[in-house]
Amino acid sequence: MAREVAGRLKKIPPYLFADIEARVRAKRAEGLDIIDFGIGDPDIPTPKEIVEELRKQVKDPANHQYANSQGEMETRRAVAEWYMRRFGVDVDPEREVVITMGSKEGLVNMCRAFVNPGEKVLVPDPAYPVYAQGGTYLSEGVPERTPLLPRNGFLLDIDSLPTDGKMVFVNYPNNPTGAVASKEFLKRVVDWGRKSETIVCYDNAYSEITFDDYLAPSILEIGRDCIEFGSLSKTFNMTGYRIGFAVGDADLVAGLKRVKSQVDSGVPKFIQKAAIKALSEYECIERPPSVERNCEIYKGRRDALVAGLRDLGFKVTPPLGTFYLWFEVGGASMEFAKRLLEVGVVVTPGVGFGEYGEGYVRMALTQPVDRIEEALKRMKRVLLTA
Ligand code: PLP
Repeated sequence: MAREVAGRLKKIPPYLFADIEARVRAKRAEGLDIIDFGIGDPDIPTPKEIVEELRKQVKDPANHQYANSQGEMETRRAVAEWYMRRFGVDVDPEREVVITMGSKEGLVNMCRAFVNPGEKVLVPDPAYPVYAQGGTYLSEGVPERTPLLPRNGFLLDIDSLPTDGKMVFVNYPNNPTGAVASKEFLKRVVDWGRKSETIVCYDNAYSEITFDDYLAPSILEIGRDCIEFGSLSKTFNMTGYRIGFAVGDADLVAGLKRVKSQVDSGVPKFIQKAAIKALSEYECIERPPSVERNCEIYKGRRDALVAGLRDLGFKVTPPLGTFYLWFEVGGASMEFAKRLLEVGVVVTPGVGFGEYGEGYVRMALTQPVDRIEEALKRMKRVLLTA
């Protein structure tokens, strides 16, 4: 008997990277040395103080039982204290903070909490695919693509946003473009959200990965009637731990908590304790040494890759945030990615982030400089013999 999945799941377009992933597997099986700039997953280990804390906490049987689905009070307090030290924003850990299983879970369940079938969700294009797919489609909402254009510095064009959406996702420092937003821009977003009565979901997962003296703001510095999603994944190289948070308007947080109480039973307590240790490393707005070191590493890689790509003739702007380079390749992004794969270099075709991503590719700075140099040599070989 054929088992058909639900219509809402069928609406999710076929996974664009399936073909390229199959080719990567085949190349690996052939023994080709692969240099992978595809996935946004830090190659740098979690700082050892955090791993030590986890080891200690996992041994304590008190941490083996169900956690609270909204996050232990101690963890929510640590997030609130981090918001005060990092952004100067005072939030109530009881009503305005929820701990999520990575920010991805929070973004998806936010749609479940607030989007009714058929309602519009404004989704940037290009963007992290989860907003449209796991978020909007699985809640039976309708994604409305709003372009991020190079002429606007990849910022949302606020004046042309539809005003009949239920919710908008805004993400800076931005995946995949690396663009960052000023407080003036965020003020326009907040004002627009109020005027159009659209729920503003601000994805600040890359707030701590910034360069050249740029520090990313929180949207809550500008307005409190939004919800902001943060993550320990990229800041502390903790992608596999699955812990993040959502902070903001008490009603929005309450809606998210209500869904979570029906879906999950909380991030394991020992992971929450490790997260408290990580957040407590921040003493003020400045990054602690472990996070600073990360950013220094990414900056060195960014500069090496930007210089090499420029030598190859590409126009690349060094991003002020995120660990991604986003640049135009002068043709179809999938074809470009396939050509590079022939010499074992994996990049992500921009079309995978939306139709406005076509013509671009994204390279994650998750390879050390010597591998970047090796990849550039191979790229030169394949691109200059075309
Ligand atoms: N938001 C953006 C823009 C991302 O790029 C990612 C992951 O790549 C996430 C959210 C989710 O991160 P996590 O669920 O690990 O917190």
